[in-house]
This record gives sequence, C-alpha cells and structure tokens, in this order.
Amino acid sequence: DRSNSMGVNLADDDRLRTLAQQINAAVRDDWFAEPLVPGATPAGEWLQVTNPADRREVVGRWLPADSATVERAVVNAVAAQPKWDATPAASRAAILEHAANLLESRMAEFIAMCTKDAGKTIPDGVGEVREAVDFLRYYACQARKLFTVEALPSPTGETNTLQLHGRGAFVCISPWNFPLAIYIGQVAAALATGNSVIAKPAEQTNLVGYAATRLLHEAGVPEDVLQFLPGDGLTVGAALTKDPRIAGVAFTGSNETANAINRALASRDGAIGVLIAETGGQNALIADSSALPEQLVKDAMSSAFTSAGQRCSAARVLFVQEDIADKVVTMLAGAMAELKVGDPGLLSTDVGPVIDEDALKTLHAHAERMDREASPIATVAMGEDTAHGSFFAPRAYALRSLDQLEREVFGPVLHVIRWKAGELDKVIDAVNSTGYGLTLGVHSRIDETVEKIAARIKVGNCYVNRNQVGAVVGVQPFGGQGLSGTGPKAGGPHYLPRFTTEKTITINT
Ligand code: NAD
Repeated sequence: DRSNSMGVNLADDDRLRTLAQQINAAVRDDWFAEPLVPGATPAGEWLQVTNPADRREVVGRWLPADSATVERAVVNAVAAQPKWDATPAASRAAILEHAANLLESRMAEFIAMCTKDAGKTIPDGVGEVREAVDFLRYYACQARKLFTVEALPSPTGETNTLQLHGRGAFVCISPWNFPLAIYIGQVAAALATGNSVIAKPAEQTNLVGYAATRLLHEAGVPEDVLQFLPGDGLTVGAALTKDPRIAGVAFTGSNETANAINRALASRDGAIGVLIAETGGQNALIADSSALPEQLVKDAMSSAFTSAGQRCSAARVLFVQEDIADKVVTMLAGAMAELKVGDPGLLSTDVGPVIDEDALKTLHAHAERMDREASPIATVAMGEDTAHGSFFAPRAYALRSLDQLEREVFGPVLHVIRWKAGELDKVIDAVNSTGYGLTLGVHSRIDETVEKIAARIKVGNCYVNRNQVGAVVGVQPFGGQGLSGTGPKAGGPHYLPRFTTEKTITINT
C-alpha cells in the first residue's frame, strides 16, 4: 500500500479499502445489455464484452438494436412524451432524486461495472458515481425552479403567463469515457424538462448504460419515457439523428461526430431539431516563471494522466516559460517515473488501460510520429499484468510548436513547449488558433498575467493555480466553445432551458 502519486492518500483511507472490497465482491461475469424498448422483440447476434485491462476476461454481452427496434423506440417516444410533459415538474424531479439515492446505495456495483466495462480506476469510478448523483440532484433542483409558472406584466388588462414544456422526443448520445456520469447527466436533463428520451450509449460501454437505465426505471421513470438503444453510432445513432420525429439531440463525443449529427439534423425535412454538443479539446496549461514548480508538476500530472488521459478536459500541452523549464521538465520526468500503470481494480494503480485496441493503435501511431518529430522527455514503465490489456504507457515529449500536433490526442500524452519572456501573446494566439476551446490551466502568481490570459483565451473552463480536470456539477459549469461544443454548459444554470420550448398564454379577462 502507498499513497497514490496523484496526491490522494488512498491507501490510508479505511472507507476506500472497504469500498475496494465491496467493488471486488460486486464483479460478475454475466452482466448484459439489450435494448429496452416496450413492444419490440430485438433480434440479432449478442456480442461479447471483455475487460479492457485483460482481454481474456469476458465480463458480459450486449445485443445491438436492429432497425425495427429503432423504429419502435421512436414511435414509443413520440407517443409517451405528452403525458410525461404533463407530469408536474416536481414529480419528475422527485423521481430523479430517488434515482440519486438508489445510485448512492449501489455505488460499489456501479464502480465495479465502470472498472470492468470501461477500465476505470477506483478513484475514477468514485468520481463517476458522485458526478452522476450530482447531475440527478442538481437538475431536479433546477427543474423545480425553472418550471415555476411565471406571471408576466399585463398592461392591457389581459393575463399573460409563460410556460415551459419539453421539446418532444429527445435523443441522448454519450461517449465511453464517462459511461455513467455523462450518460445520466444528459438523460436527467432531458427527463427533468419533460422530454421523452432515447438513450444511445457508446458501443464500448453498454453495460453501464443499461444498468443506469434500469435504475432510472426502478426509481419511477416510465419505460416508454426512457428507452435504451445500444448500437453502432453509424447505424443506430445516424438513424435516430436523421429522423424528423426527433425534437433534439444531446451529444457528447468527438468533434467529427458532432458535425455528422449536425448535418443529419440539417438534412431532415420538417421541424428544426436542436443540437447540444459537447466535444473534444486540445487543452493547454500555461505556466510563467512565477509558477511554483512543485505545484505546477503535481497539477500537470493529474491533468494529463488521470483516467489515462481519456478526459476531454485533460491537459495536452504544457507551455512553460524558459526560466523554470529545465527544473519543471526534470521534476515532471521524476514524477512520471513514480506512476503505476496496471490493474484499475487495485487502489495503488494510477493509470489503467485505454478503452480499446483502436484507441491503443491511434496512440501508438501518435507516439511513433512524436518519436521521430519531437524529443522524448519520459515514458513510464509498464506495470505487471499489462500484457493482455489495452495499456499505453504515459509519455511526455518536448515540441517546438503547437503546429506539430494535428488533432486532439486522447490519451496519457503530455507535450511540453517552452516560451520566452515577452512571448505570452504569441502563446495565447497559438492556443486560440487551434479552434478548440475547452479547458485551460494557468500557473502564475502575477495577477496581471492571470487576468490577461483569462480575458484573451477562448475556452469554456479556465483553471488558475490548480489542476484543470474534475469540474463539479453546479459549481463549475462545464463545456467549451468553438470546435469544443455548442454550449450551454452541463451542470450549469443555463443547461435545462435548452431542452425546453416556451409557451406564452394570453387570456382576455
Ligand atoms: P465518438 O464521437 O466516437 O462517439 C460518441 C458517441 O457518438 C457514441 O455513442 C457513438 O456511438 C456515437 N456516434 C458515432 N458516430 C455517430 C453518428 N454518425 N451519428 C450519431 N451518433 C454517432 O466519441 P468517443 O470516442 O466515444 O468519446 C471521446 C470524445 O468525446 C473525445 O473527443 C472527447 O474529448 C469527447 N468528450 C467531450 C466531453 C465534453 O464535455 N466536452 C466529455 C467527454 C468526452
């Protein structure tokens, strides 16, 4: 046992040790996921789910939705929505709060599933459950406030009121990297506001999405109001988004997929569908010579390498001012040497596997290019028991300029670029020129520098003198701009209204 090198003293915490035992006891090999669509009889071939940390281990199976099941889901969703919309917002909110309580009481089971389905470490699993619970409670609370009927001024003697309603049948399409938190966050927002929901999880993490859907049904969401539709993005996802009966899409995933969905929505005849898209980033961390190297390295480590770098918010590029760069790079290499890569079910593990072999291939291709075109700073040694899993050793490279990166690098790779005094504007311009705008880290003790960067940088979330991951629902509303998403921010006060349509009622009394 030892302290986790990302600063969480996991090994000393009795509660975590007990939780780890409960998680291990909750692991099963017969989990499954199938479409949850009333009236449909899904047919097809069941596919195996294997553990990303050890591909020899089968943890469950899943059945993709066929086209008849997709059609049935859309018909059901359209038919079920008016009744759900007419259900008082407070009743919908109470169901979400009940789901939050159930989820909290089943934390170990859900973490076990996040570990085996998505390769999450235990601290990441705890974060998933916490965030999902927070989304359920926060959106329940926000919906209660939002759906309070507002009396409008009546200067002409008429009575005017403004009502909100759900938009209709909403499709929620989520990524694998937060298979519980983002899945539940999207679904909870759409349900809280009176929409019926068809939820399509990422192909890689159906087990978690299925269990979350069953939990919401158990909490009281009617089965035709929330349907679960696992399947390939290019078939099931594409069929849903081009269907004119769908009122809107909440999407989190890559920028390319967001564009494909936008095109699908635009190609439909009929009502204009709304798109809420949260996408990728090429996130920078800017440090000037006043930064404290110890704190900078600690925050860079957690920003770049937690969740094996598979966070949209993760730091990809550290811009460090030349005066402190040698020291920072030496300390970074030293800290990386302490990282433990291996079984995500062990409390001592810092970095678990990446999601699948495709992700691994993409990361290896990037590393090969970086080995040729950049200067390696450090590569972490692989831990034991990694031979049969999708493990990628965290790496850091020194780059000459940001142009050497083509697109988002979705894994545990940190790139370091040095800058000289007087070049801050150039650094800000370079970061802005990527077109992405998700997170930015700043390490500086100079107020004017912090203010200048915060004012000029085009990002959704700017973190100063701390790490840049782990936004807290309701406290740090999360989401980007430009290539990183449409907004409004998840976990923020403006998110729910986007799922609604407004109705003004004027009565001549
Ligand atoms: P992805 O775009 O490949 O897939 C996301 C979802 O879209 C999956 O459910 C997939 O099946 C579906 N999909 C794929 N093609 C589709 C199509 N043509 N039509 C409809 N649906 C389709 O993304 P991913 O690899 O699962 O997730 C990683 C990406 O998500 C990264 O780019 C990451 O930065 C981003 N992300 C962003 C945020 C955020 O809040 N901004 C949060 C988490 C992840």
